[in-house]
Amino acid sequence: MPAETAAPALPGAQPPGTFTPEQARQDIPILHRTVNGHPLVWLDNGATTQKPRQVIEALSAFYGAANSNIHRGAHTMAREATEMYEAGRAAVAAFLGAEAPESIVFVRGTTEAVNLVAQSWGRSNLGPGDDILVPVLEHHSNIVPWQMIAKETRARVVPIPLDADGQIDQKAYADLLSARTQLVAISQASNVLGTVPPVKEMTALAHRYGAKVLVDGAQAVAHFPVDVTDLGADFYAFSGHKLFAPTGIGALYAKPELLATMNPWQGGGNMIESVGFDRTTFAPPPHLLEAGTGHISGVVGLLAAINWLTSFDRNAIAAYEEALMTYAQQAMATVPGLDILGAAPDRIAVLTFTLAGHDPATIADWLDRDGIAIRAGHHCAQPALAHYGLEFAARASLALYNTSEEVDQLVASLRRLQQAG
Ligand code: PMP
Repeated sequence: MPAETAAPALPGAQPPGTFTPEQARQDIPILHRTVNGHPLVWLDNGATTQKPRQVIEALSAFYGAANSNIHRGAHTMAREATEMYEAGRAAVAAFLGAEAPESIVFVRGTTEAVNLVAQSWGRSNLGPGDDILVPVLEHHSNIVPWQMIAKETRARVVPIPLDADGQIDQKAYADLLSARTQLVAISQASNVLGTVPPVKEMTALAHRYGAKVLVDGAQAVAHFPVDVTDLGADFYAFSGHKLFAPTGIGALYAKPELLATMNPWQGGGNMIESVGFDRTTFAPPPHLLEAGTGHISGVVGLLAAINWLTSFDRNAIAAYEEALMTYAQQAMATVPGLDILGAAPDRIAVLTFTLAGHDPATIADWLDRDGIAIRAGHHCAQPALAHYGLEFAARASLALYNTSEEVDQLVASLRRLQQAG
């Protein structure tokens, strides 16, 4: 008889410790590869983050010894997989400061979370003449789903303007709020300007008008600690892949009293209590909103990523990233013809820039030859770029494992490009 393979232990949460970027780098295998003959300099963290071996090993352990569908099966493997999945839900709830694990719905990512809220909450709560306020700053995934549901319900999507620094114009916001406002959809950190708006204050103001607030945390969660209860957010969305976890998994937080009123948006297995051709009854939330087989290994990976990140001192990470951002801003300012977009005092480490005489795609291509990965394009935030009269820009986005030496390499390569003409 083959020896029984024991189920892998859940990747355990550790008490928060210290932080150095070197510690983080040691855990991330991909950062030690070369690209075009140079050590990789990964400055495309706004698009996706690299994965620690703890996450990679958790995925391998799951598929090597624990794979099963969840909930349905009355066998050991199904029970173990269910436990892991629900441990993941509890970890996400704790990570976000949510009231309970049941206030977390697993989704593919931020995009799916926003679409879920638009299709479920939006369809039942929006009507003709209602306003959805959306800052010009937003990622397309926090604009287009609102436009789609607004068209169906005859509500309006109203842009909240930006000031010259790329901050949300708070006076305009206060003026736009009214009894018609049903929802305010804001990102806690912008993927293109890095702006971190005063979400807590904006939420409190929206609540005075009875409006709900959805916070897009896609660019926030990896950079600073989040507490949805303190923010007062009604909905909070994030993507695992921007948090050192696999692609295809993310989470939506919804306030329990709101979640209890939400209708299903997709039908299928896992979200029902009983099905008959005369009558079908539904499971309670969060399962109500999780039709079909979930991304079980994704949740396992997300749990490992959260445990990895929270094993560091998160305030030390935020302080390090802030210092690195200041260093990068100063260093990049020395490159002739380089302009950084946005100047909000509160920002995550995102540097979107233009370089006189070079289009963004050429800049990205040049840097790639030196092993430096940045993003060029519209960054899925065309209205934000249009605010600066631009269609495209280059973007370097930093994470906890980036270093000042990498910033120096970026700056040196940009200088060479500028000299090459
Ligand atoms: N919102 C913001 C602010 C983002 O940066 C992104 C990803 N670039 C998204 C939403 C969408 O995330 P995803 O593609 O993982 O759903």
